[in-house]
Amino acid sequence: MTDLPLTFYPTPSLREPSKKVTVFNDELKKLAQEMGKAMKANKGIGLAAPQIGKNIQMTVIGTEDGLLVLVNPRIYYKSFRKEISEEGCLSIPEVFGQVKRSLGVTIRAQNVDGKKVTLRGKGLLARVIQHEIDHLRGILFIDRTKDLKGSGKLWDLVKKEKKIK
Ligand SMILES: [Zn+2]
Repeated sequence: MTDLPLTFYPTPSLREPSKKVTVFNDELKKLAQEMGKAMKANKGIGLAAPQIGKNIQMTVIGTEDGLLVLVNPRIYYKSFRKEISEEGCLSIPEVFGQVKRSLGVTIRAQNVDGKKVTLRGKGLLARVIQHEIDHLRGILFIDRTKDLKGSGKLWDLVKKEKKIK
């Protein structure tokens, strides 16, 4: 099995809202595992299904305790306290930006078996969760900041879209 190929900006699927997952079967589990592998192979800490060209509400996140799979995640609570920190994205390599995010979040989601879960995250985990949930709505980190920098072909595209001089 070869690694799943990633989709890169400006692929339209990255801009489309993803559909809710309603069927929890072996195929979904296999996809979650493969997304985890692709995430690690590309040295990422999170990967959302639209980044492999599938517009379904599933994301994987690398944590100390292993791979966290979130299906149909919703932000339930966001802390008022925010933090600005640098972000990048596997779909927009070589582009980075300072993004303001809530320091803590509580989310409700389902696991890969369809079981409902509530999860709290802070710091980097909260940031990754917010970044990945954005992906499921077709939002990219470059939409959340004007403070961007980068290099390469995609950077030229981002600069053009965002009218950055
Ligand atoms: Zn991303």
